[in-house]
Amino acid sequence: MERAKSQPRDSKAGVDGMNGLPTPVRVLVFAMVAAAAGGVAVRFGEVSRWDGRDVLGLIVLTLATSIAEQFPLEIRHRTENLYLALTDSMWAAGLVLARPGVLTMAVAVGVYFGLLLRKVAPHKIAFNLGQYILSITVAEVVFSALAGSATMAFKLLVAVPVAMLAYAVVSAGLVALVISQAERKSLWEVLLPPLAVNALHYAGNIALGILGAMAWQVSPPGVLLVGFPLALFYAAYRIMVRNLREGDRLRELIVENASDGIFVAAPDCSIVSWNPAMERITGQSADEVIGKNWRSILASSGSAESPRGGTAPCQAPGDAWFAPIVRKDGTEGWILCSSSTINGRDSKVKATVIVVHDISAEREAEQLKADFVATISHELRTPLTPLKGFLSSLIHGTIDDESDARHEYYRIMLRQANRLERLVTDLLEVSKIESSSALVTSPIDLCAPVVEQIRTFSEEHPARSISLRAPDSQVFVEADRSRVGLVVSNLLANALKYSPPDKRVQVTIAVEEDRATLSVRDEGPGIPLSEQQRIFDRFYQIEDHLTRPNGGVGLGLYICRRFVEGMHGRLWVDSRPGHGSTFSFSLPMAQVRSLTVSS
Ligand code: ADP
Repeated sequence: MERAKSQPRDSKAGVDGMNGLPTPVRVLVFAMVAAAAGGVAVRFGEVSRWDGRDVLGLIVLTLATSIAEQFPLEIRHRTENLYLALTDSMWAAGLVLARPGVLTMAVAVGVYFGLLLRKVAPHKIAFNLGQYILSITVAEVVFSALAGSATMAFKLLVAVPVAMLAYAVVSAGLVALVISQAERKSLWEVLLPPLAVNALHYAGNIALGILGAMAWQVSPPGVLLVGFPLALFYAAYRIMVRNLREGDRLRELIVENASDGIFVAAPDCSIVSWNPAMERITGQSADEVIGKNWRSILASSGSAESPRGGTAPCQAPGDAWFAPIVRKDGTEGWILCSSSTINGRDSKVKATVIVVHDISAEREAEQLKADFVATISHELRTPLTPLKGFLSSLIHGTIDDESDARHEYYRIMLRQANRLERLVTDLLEVSKIESSSALVTSPIDLCAPVVEQIRTFSEEHPARSISLRAPDSQVFVEADRSRVGLVVSNLLANALKYSPPDKRVQVTIAVEEDRATLSVRDEGPGIPLSEQQRIFDRFYQIEDHLTRPNGGVGLGLYICRRFVEGMHGRLWVDSRPGHGSTFSFSLPMAQVRSLTVSS
């Protein structure tokens, strides 16, 4: 979850890619490397005075350094990981046991090969060489100044600790200086957080080095005795780290598999982690958002931007809040967020955890429900108004009472009554549809309910032209007669409603192998491809429910599809804006032969 940051005791993670660093940092690193190279060059003068013991010391120290570099200890420090090596302890011992030149050379060669084996980048190797050679040179100078002709006890108990303290100050200071320059932080900001653990590490290493040097003084093989408790401590430490990691992994698994979005933000608002549910909700992957300001990511629409006037742009607007979002694909949604902060020991906010619940579907359903109530009230009232008007005019004799005129009034009233009936039927059917399973079907002649519906609509709309093209013989399908009538009625009502009054509506029945297909074609405005699936959803209407001129409640096609599918058929639309629409459904043919026998 947390990005591991390591600094400043071991610089390996501190300097990433020289090219991206500011010029002062690069100058500093080059100066360090140059100074270190000078330090090594000076020691070359001593080589001619070395004896066999010095060469052996060089080999042993170099090998030990290279090997120790292969096993850095990972130490967890709150949310950070520090990588530490045991090299310092060998160098502490080396101060007492070896000539300064031997120690410097061993540090240079040992660190170089040790890091090379670990495949560390060349610029980092150069930086570490500079850091260690400079630090050990300072330690050697301090040690020489203090030790002189002092007793071994003084050397071990005073000179080595003081010299290694100087080493630690220079080494940690150099790394902190480079990191503070690179990250534009103050030296203290870099140096302080890991200071305690670094100090312990240095103290432990120095003590270990002194013990090793003492053991060597008594008898060189005695050094192995120092290694024994060390190996045991190391094993215990590894077990502890493994257990901690398993705990972390478990927590990560829970977060990764959570159905709600969870992300962590740093105090400066930058996103630190982003779980897969957040990717689903926003359409943005972790790689795209890590490091960016979470408020700008969630408020792409601008609406959740700084709700308190921008004074605290990073703070979550409260414990829980609603916000609109614009997903990566441009679609809009709603989220319910809640946040909690993680505080450090100093009570300062270290991170904010934000849990995001996608409530787009709930919001959409609520909106649909609200629209539905408004639409239904409007749709029930619309046919009632002319019905009441004509009835009261007829009763009071306030309109033309000629038989032709009266016939026209009755036709208008019938049309409105039919419209009301269709609406009430749709509402009743939709309430039944959710609970009922497959429909009960029997062989019926498809042409019969179709002819019946065309007759009804032609009577209602005598000015409209509705044509039928069907096979000469009967078309037996396996279906529910009244439901087929309802489907045809809805498709015809839509075709008439959505096409201009002077345009024809064409109904076709065709038989293909084991299925019969009925199509209702109109020459209306057509339906955009993007809407062709959604029009079959419950309550879905392309136009706004209050401004649309054609009425309807968005249930017709939903009911039609459910009915057709309940009869093992299929309902679909072929349409292009400006070229009309054809709604078709197919139903399985009935077994005509068995029917003939039984009839
Ligand atoms: P409604 O009661 O609104 O007609 P439907 O479920 O029957 O509900 O239709 C859903 C939407 O599909 C309609 O609001 C309309 O926008 C569109 N629609 C249906 N039939 C046609 C058609 N023949 N031509 C154009 N648009 C249509």
